[in-house]
Amino acid sequence: MTSQNLTVLCGGCKCAVETVANPQAHDKVTCPKCHRSDRFDKVMDSVREHILHLTTKSMSESLARSTRGNRFVKFESKQPSNRSFRWISDFRA
Ligand SMILES: [Zn+2]
Repeated sequence: MTSQNLTVLCGGCKCAVETVANPQAHDKVTCPKCHRSDRFDKVMDSVREHILHLTTKSMSESLARSTRGNRFVKFESKQPSNRSFRWISDFRA
């Protein structure tokens, strides 16, 4: 994973949340809109899961694309189901 700066978004209303400069695990992250709130470490767990989800999804999509029309290789695309995350980020796979 790259160390690019990601904006943490609320998984419910997709609103950017404000985090302190050097957040500690016990720091609270709160959505300014719906006031969903969690500890920073829990938020990051969810964000990481979401990034993994996006990456897996885009990988299986490009694999399906590159084998499309190929009669020797048939790739059965197993799309990870769309699920909801408590916290997400602006990461694009
Ligand atoms: Zn929210």
